[in-house]
Amino acid sequence: MILGPHEPPAPLHLTPMEIKTIRFDARRFDLVDKNIYIPELFHGDLHSKDVALTFDDGPHPQWTPKLLRILEALKVHATFFVVGKMVDKYPYLVAQEVLDGDEVENHTYDHISMKRLDGPQVRIELEDGAAAIRRITGYTPYFFRPPGGGLTDEGKAVAAQLHMTSVMWTANSKDFTYPPDKLLEARLMDVNHHGAILLCHDGIPETMQILPDLVRRLRSQGYKFVTISVLARHLLESEERISRRPAFRMRARTIVN
Ligand SMILES: [Zn+2]
Repeated sequence: MILGPHEPPAPLHLTPMEIKTIRFDARRFDLVDKNIYIPELFHGDLHSKDVALTFDDGPHPQWTPKLLRILEALKVHATFFVVGKMVDKYPYLVAQEVLDGDEVENHTYDHISMKRLDGPQVRIELEDGAAAIRRITGYTPYFFRPPGGGLTDEGKAVAAQLHMTSVMWTANSKDFTYPPDKLLEARLMDVNHHGAILLCHDGIPETMQILPDLVRRLRSQGYKFVTISVLARHLLESEERISRRPAFRMRARTIVN
């Protein structure tokens, strides 16, 4: 598949009614419903064939529609860690992501590294990012990815207060540096894929270019593409495995609203 960088963007047109219906279509696994708090999710069930494709930094008016069409054609449901201010700018793209069966999670409101923020500022970033998503989808995202992957102790403390889970990755495509296709695909292929979380970015033509081949190769090895909440659910369900090799520090807590 050839994707020209100068192709005009293809906006999606959703009616207000369609946007409304996604509130009822959003099916996701909610850890808060389960009274469980996972501070950090590093990978899924290491004995499973689950692979989660994640895309940070969107939505992007030019590229997200193309990425969504590719994912639709491949029948892959991915997880988008979106930036709140972009969500407010392009809400129809987030609506389309959810309508397609993809998962939308929090990448803070302004995409500022937590290393540059104090506790109250981190709280505002996480809460505002979640609120932007909630306005479109009707659900509160409890998974987030810290901008740049940097999670400070203060950030961890705030996330714990908000019951939010930081989602890391097992393979980093570093696609934001626009590497050659072969290197990009190798970074995502030459890793252990059991319970893998693949980190990519929305808006990178090179990533969209290699996606069909990456998906085909992993599927031919029996891997299944799942969203982050499904990956987390499968991890929790394999309790026996969790006790052998904990992927996170888990503790049950009573949620008081
Ligand atoms: Zn980012």
